[in-house]
Amino acid sequence: MNTPATTRFRALQEAGLASPAAATPELPALQRLLTQDRLTPAEFRLLLSPAAETLLEPLARRAQELTLRHFGRTMQLYTPLYLANYCVNGCTYCGYSAGQRIERHRLTPDQLRREAEVIAATGLRHVLVLTGESLTHTPPDYIGDCIEILRDYFTSIAIEIYPLSVDSYRELAGRGADSLTLYQETYDRTRYAELHPYGPKRDYDFRLAAPERGCQAGLRAVNIGALLGLHDARLEFLLTGLHAYCLQEQYPGVDLAVSLPRIRPVPGGFQPAVAVTDRMLAQFIAAFRLFMPRAGIALSTRERASIRDGLIHFGVTRLSAGSNTAVGGRTCQSGSGQFEIDDHRGVAEISAMLYQAGRQPVFKDWQTL
Ligand code: SF4
Repeated sequence: MNTPATTRFRALQEAGLASPAAATPELPALQRLLTQDRLTPAEFRLLLSPAAETLLEPLARRAQELTLRHFGRTMQLYTPLYLANYCVNGCTYCGYSAGQRIERHRLTPDQLRREAEVIAATGLRHVLVLTGESLTHTPPDYIGDCIEILRDYFTSIAIEIYPLSVDSYRELAGRGADSLTLYQETYDRTRYAELHPYGPKRDYDFRLAAPERGCQAGLRAVNIGALLGLHDARLEFLLTGLHAYCLQEQYPGVDLAVSLPRIRPVPGGFQPAVAVTDRMLAQFIAAFRLFMPRAGIALSTRERASIRDGLIHFGVTRLSAGSNTAVGGRTCQSGSGQFEIDDHRGVAEISAMLYQAGRQPVFKDWQTL
């Protein structure tokens, strides 16, 4: 099947895009961008430059204004649910990679129901299901069976799993999945090859086109991102934004969103290649809001509570709450999590924080038929 948005994105990527780190726009030119209704990809690049970081306050004000215009004072909440931690890939930054000596589990239907009951009791109706990549332990059929169980508890089920064909995405959509989350991890091919030394995930291009296959399969929402800290973060986020832009132009009916997960150092283990400061993260979020005013922006519990509380004023529209990255982590706690989370607040605490900040937490804004 043709993937025109991915082809267009690849053309932009291969046109020799220089990193925003190398851009040196004048202050008046940057100030003009803050008053424009639309930004071109080249202008988005300028807003990601180090020079634009000095305009963080007016940038944030403009981002806030656009967010309120398009999303009101709402914040959608969701939580991740890990189905299994079997994986054949060797991602060097991941606690679930095939080379790690950890206990491996896969939820049974009863265990999944118990986990779903605990989450549903918090009031949340949006859930994000995750697995590692293993066609032996977690083939699409198993994931589909889990989705059908989860439909008894949730009105929106997103999948963050290994990349699939259009037909397989369509099949999961038919069983109740409505959204896809898939990160390219890094858009730099050389770095990608270093970080993914073995396993099917080595196929950069198959992964790159997966969000578009999700759009073609009829999924309602698609969320993309790069793991910030693996490579030049300004360039990675520029490419994330351009990828989202190409998808949105081609599939205007799809609800596009980006995430900005910062990779965390693992004591004695994986260390990020580059630092991504809190100010950079805030700048990226606000700049993206100006570039794509109607797109969603998700922020995960990898970030500290204080950072998340501040960033909701920069354009964020989705927050995870009550997160746990272990398989069955809320009920049968089997093994360690995929990564450390830093915001351990439950749904009630996150909701209280949002009300205090003048925001309405939204537990349900979609119902799959
Ligand atoms: S990031 Fe995903 S694909 Fe890679 S090792 Fe971890 S679970 Fe497997």
